[in-house]
Amino acid sequence: MMTAIHSHDAPFYQPQGNEVALFEAAYAARLPVMVKGPTGCGKSRFIEAMAHRLERPLITVACNEDMTASDLVGRYLLDAGGTRWQDGPLTLAARQGAICYLDEIVEARQDTTVVIHPLTDHRRQLPLDKKGEMLHAHPDFQLVISYNPGYQSLLKDLKPSTKQRFVAFEFDYPAAPLEAQIVSQETGLDAARAGQLVQVAHAARQLKGHGLTEGISTRLLVYAARLMVGGVNPGEACRMALVRPITDDADIRQTLDHTIDAVF
Ligand code: ADP
Repeated sequence: MMTAIHSHDAPFYQPQGNEVALFEAAYAARLPVMVKGPTGCGKSRFIEAMAHRLERPLITVACNEDMTASDLVGRYLLDAGGTRWQDGPLTLAARQGAICYLDEIVEARQDTTVVIHPLTDHRRQLPLDKKGEMLHAHPDFQLVISYNPGYQSLLKDLKPSTKQRFVAFEFDYPAAPLEAQIVSQETGLDAARAGQLVQVAHAARQLKGHGLTEGISTRLLVYAARLMVGGVNPGEACRMALVRPITDDADIRQTLDHTIDAVF
């Protein structure tokens, strides 16, 4: 569930606007950051690139509905030597001065989400109730959360009191030329082919709300490009990476398959 990254190579991140400078300003002010946007549009990659740029370790937590406050904060473990406390990822990040990235925060239950509150205001504290410790966050610590407003429902939304603790970035799929450049740079696929993949994605994104809940993500374009670089013919690569994963509807599948045949 948790991954800690101390990478040496800068992750490739293609900015869409001035988000790099704005994130730096938010970090300088130690403001908690929220990144909103559809799945696979570059939110996580952006945070990985920013952590690298700011020379901060990054601790990522993929949130899910079974996650408890203890999974974030920590718990006592029983082992041969007796009980010992183990910091959770949030506590670890707050102690070490890492950037803690809670990916898809709305997946977590609201009673789990509230544990971040005291860390996100002027207190910058994390009460470890079970341990009887009040942890003061390291000066370099920053909290970042991501979520996909498209999946929002009344049951799954952030409480207003949680939302109002963050500054927010609104992400979307990159504009066509930029997205083609990203796909090409990520995979080595030639620019012309990358542009064709983006064309297919644009056609599918038109169907959002007309039978498709979510369009084809940049991530899936990267998958299709990898298959093509590996020698799979474009039609098959597109069907396998772009169409089959996102729809079970025969009509939509047919529409998209036709688009692919028209583009390639
Ligand atoms: P999510 O928004 O779900 O966190 P990711 O950040 O994991 O999405 O992006 C999915 C993939 O798309 C990345 O692994 C990367 O290959 C590619 N990608 C998307 N946007 C960018 C970008 N701006 N620069 C570089 N790669 C990107």
